[in-house]
Amino acid sequence: MGRLFGTDGVRGIVNEELTPSLALRLGLAIGTYFGEGAKILVGRDVRAGGEMISRAVISGLLSCGVEVYYCGLAPTPAIQFNVKEYGFDGGVIITASHNPAPYNGIKVIAGDGVEIPRDDERVIEEYYFTEKFKPVSWNKVRDSIRIYDKCIERYVNGILKHVDVELIRSKRFKVVIDPANSVGALASPLVAKKLGCKVLTVNGHLDSHFPWREPEPTVDTLKDTATIVKSVGADVGVGHDGDADRSIFIDERGRVMWGDRSAVILAKYLAKKYSGKDRVYTAVSSSLLVEEALRPLGIEVIWTKVGAVGISRAMMKDGRALCGFEENGGFMYPPHQYVRDGAMTLALMLQVMAETGKSLAELYDELPSYVTCKTKVPMPRTLAEEAVKAVAKRFKDERLITVDGVKVILEDGWVLVRPSGTEPVLRIMAEAKTREKLDWILREVKEAIGKVR
Ligand code: MG
Repeated sequence: MGRLFGTDGVRGIVNEELTPSLALRLGLAIGTYFGEGAKILVGRDVRAGGEMISRAVISGLLSCGVEVYYCGLAPTPAIQFNVKEYGFDGGVIITASHNPAPYNGIKVIAGDGVEIPRDDERVIEEYYFTEKFKPVSWNKVRDSIRIYDKCIERYVNGILKHVDVELIRSKRFKVVIDPANSVGALASPLVAKKLGCKVLTVNGHLDSHFPWREPEPTVDTLKDTATIVKSVGADVGVGHDGDADRSIFIDERGRVMWGDRSAVILAKYLAKKYSGKDRVYTAVSSSLLVEEALRPLGIEVIWTKVGAVGISRAMMKDGRALCGFEENGGFMYPPHQYVRDGAMTLALMLQVMAETGKSLAELYDELPSYVTCKTKVPMPRTLAEEAVKAVAKRFKDERLITVDGVKVILEDGWVLVRPSGTEPVLRIMAEAKTREKLDWILREVKEAIGKVR
């Protein structure tokens, strides 16, 4: 049987891979999975084809007797929050998150607000490929969909409950928000304004062609925004991805920080706030500085496979989970919800700045510093797996984490070597305290890999 779902829903180029007929069949399969009478919230990001795909999916859902609520344009975390908090049996989100402009996608949310488990995706795929759909009789098809217009308002209010609004308001922060011309524009500026901030949006109008930057927020794509943060004298800048579940921060000096850095700033604060919660979940792609900064506070770091859904589901089973995050800017704050949430992350960062009285640059400079290298080597998956084994063998006497590829932890540096989940490449990430050490690590890794090529 074929596969539809990748690491985060079904993705493809609009009208090439992701067509209305695929969306209709997938809608029928999802409707069959949730069953007659299920109450499902559907929404989307700003991407091209969003209207076309969501209508096709909704047709399939209605055919199976599902009760459809439609919220239109909204950040992914806003839809997830409403599904969890307001009695929905699940949700469907039309989004391709951080992918380039030609892509769109479909992802399915369980009643707890988190993406459905892998096994359930297999069930939907089975319905899709075998066409064992369960349409209801004519008199059970709903006459209309219901417009759900409280999504953003309820989401914003949900976020504000977790921070000290009056304290943050008293600081009059200046904030630059770059939502990449997508749905982050609908919530984050509102959150910041309610927190008394002076808000400047960059790439703030909705535009499905993403005219000014790629939807993925990175050190590269946020260069212009970082220049603006510095030149207007803002206290903080934040860049979201296309569906606004990620936040990449920029300090007042215009430095763009990777998500594991900003996450550690937040985790240090949360560790002091919640004494019984002493575990932090993060993917192996995060820096070793996570352990270095959090261990002295009695926090245990649980290294997971790359992929946000796994982190969310693992944290839900652990009463000691403080928070979870990815180095790409996804941050999960369980008291609000167990999934990545861009606007919640921004509110928490403002809370930390207000409560500590420190600027973001000061908070950033307190973190251990490393020299970083991220690279990739093209090779087929089978060879990439051999390369992982070769690196593990070369460093067999060191501490190794093998949940996803191999992460080698050395005294003053680390390296992660893992096959990509989506492309025929071997990904290499390394960091060290000094340039010399980093060069040495990369040399050793390349030599080990050279033996299998
Ligand atoms: Mg996203």
